Amino acid sequence: MKAGAVTPGKTDSARVVEMPIPVPEPGEALIRLLEVGIDGTDLEISLGRYGDPPPGQDFLVLGHEAIGLVENSGSTDLVKGDLVVPLVRRPDSCINCRTGQYDMCIEGNYRECGIRGAHGFLREYLAEAPDFLLKVPQDLRQLAVLAEPMSIVSKGVEQAMEFHRRSANPIQAALVLGAGPLGLLAAAFLRVQGYNTYALDILPKSSLKGRLMEAIGATYIDGSDCRIDELPRKLGNLDLIMEATGNSTVAFQAMSALGINGVLCLMGVSTGEKRLEICADCIDMQIVLGNKVVFGTVSSNRGHFERAIQHLGEIEQEWPGWLTRLITQRLPLGDFKDALHPAPDSIKTVIEMPQNMV
Ligand SMILES: [Zn+2]
Repeated sequence: MKAGAVTPGKTDSARVVEMPIPVPEPGEALIRLLEVGIDGTDLEISLGRYGDPPPGQDFLVLGHEAIGLVENSGSTDLVKGDLVVPLVRRPDSCINCRTGQYDMCIEGNYRECGIRGAHGFLREYLAEAPDFLLKVPQDLRQLAVLAEPMSIVSKGVEQAMEFHRRSANPIQAALVLGAGPLGLLAAAFLRVQGYNTYALDILPKSSLKGRLMEAIGATYIDGSDCRIDELPRKLGNLDLIMEATGNSTVAFQAMSALGINGVLCLMGVSTGEKRLEICADCIDMQIVLGNKVVFGTVSSNRGHFERAIQHLGEIEQEWPGWLTRLITQRLPLGDFKDALHPAPDSIKTVIEMPQNMV
């Protein structure tokens, strides 16, 4: 079978490789992959900044956002033809991993398919145990490839809401920084629950990202001509900020913009070594005297994936067709390298696996 792979640590090594079709172990099902989404982590891996191959191998199959069909259910409770989303992280033996919270692993010996120590899903077939497969309704066939990024957003927003519950005041204003896939999904999650939501990116309002934000009732702000730390003067107390740019400067500006009793969730990852001159005393004082929370979130567990599927269904029901507009490019597996050099206005590229195209 064919797979899209890289040599971790080596820039621009993406290529299509041939691999044997996996033979399921007892208790595993054989899955035929249909679609695989590409995200910023894949780009980082292809730039050689991140990623580890499985032990003893010199390449890593990319892809951690996928849907597939059960081809052979083996001895599992799945049925041939079931639509499934494979989960990404494989636990180690720490207390959180043993209790299903492998997104909160404390020992760090977990594996992540397509990222760290295990092949990803950008291949024609996968053999996997049901513990790491989530069955999803067939009517979400066109959307379920967004389950993984939605699971990240679900975890982030749910935890931000948990923190906000410390305070009796309702959320008056939420701000989403960044209008990539995570930012758009976060805004949709907040809007479908009726929150007054602002969204900012450094693109004009007339851009696709701006129009998608406005289409769900979020107020879009062109960040190229405004300062984030001045937003509270215009928007009032920002109770909740979801940071999804991965730009550390933006993350620190967001700390200054955060309102009284506010919660700032950092979802984006900064991988460089940028230095920044900040007023550390000011930020420290604002956070303490304002009862503010700043927290980071990464990965997701089965529960987040289950709720992500539910949230995708709710968003689709509220704004039919909006989620599929997030998929701005579809490429065959043979051209997957093109997805690793996205255009500035692209949002989500999905790779169509060979047998999905016939
Ligand atoms: Zn662990």
